[in-house]
Amino acid sequence: MIKENLHLIKSKIPKEVTLVAVTKTKPISDIMEAYNAGHRDFGENKVQELARKAAELPKDIKWHMIGHIQRNKVKYMAGFVHLIHGIDSFKLLKEINKQAAKHNRVIDCLLQVHIAQESTKFGLDFDEINTLINSGKATDLKHIRIVGLMGMATFTDDEEQVRKEFHALRDFFESMKAFASENVEMKILSTGMSGDYEIAIEEGSNMVRIGTAIFGRRNFIA
Ligand SMILES: *Cc1c(COP(=O)(O)O)cnc(C)c1O
Repeated sequence: MIKENLHLIKSKIPKEVTLVAVTKTKPISDIMEAYNAGHRDFGENKVQELARKAAELPKDIKWHMIGHIQRNKVKYMAGFVHLIHGIDSFKLLKEINKQAAKHNRVIDCLLQVHIAQESTKFGLDFDEINTLINSGKATDLKHIRIVGLMGMATFTDDEEQVRKEFHALRDFFESMKAFASENVEMKILSTGMSGDYEIAIEEGSNMVRIGTAIFGRRNFIA
């Protein structure tokens, strides 16, 4: 089913939208099935699970870290991670910069924006992102690049609420494009999951993170 699900979703999304297949809690065999169907972008939300799977799987996979990150875990993925979606502090950026330098790499990062109504713990609000970008502090970090924003809408059946949140995020994303620098360029808007990716794309997303709709339900909450 994985291959069929992948093809179905790919047929529904525009070519310029990157599909990140979210494999948290799923076995290597599931990932290989998607890989053998030609897929290369995969996402995990825990650093250790990401590192374990990356070690076992083909090296041309592009690994996306989509979850909350503890600073002391950055070192386990700095050598190979393709894109880190969940940046929620300058301290975390500094640590990624430090670990990337050890590998002589530049790591692409997305700032996580807090848009949902729930008072979840993670993410920055618009003001905090504005300050971070406009302070120029990130420009000193030569081993990271801020390439866009990531957000999650409120978990609700109210489509209009979800659309409103994605829309506001897109407006903000567009407004931040004016503040590009050497290592800041707003190119990627990572919004949309299994339940809301169609709305997200209509509201400007160019990267969706989809797990359940490809691999089926997870057996436990990761
Ligand atoms: C698990 C997860 C997804 C995928 O969710 P599905 O509803 O299974 O598609 C997307 N983004 C993040 C940050 C996640 O943790």
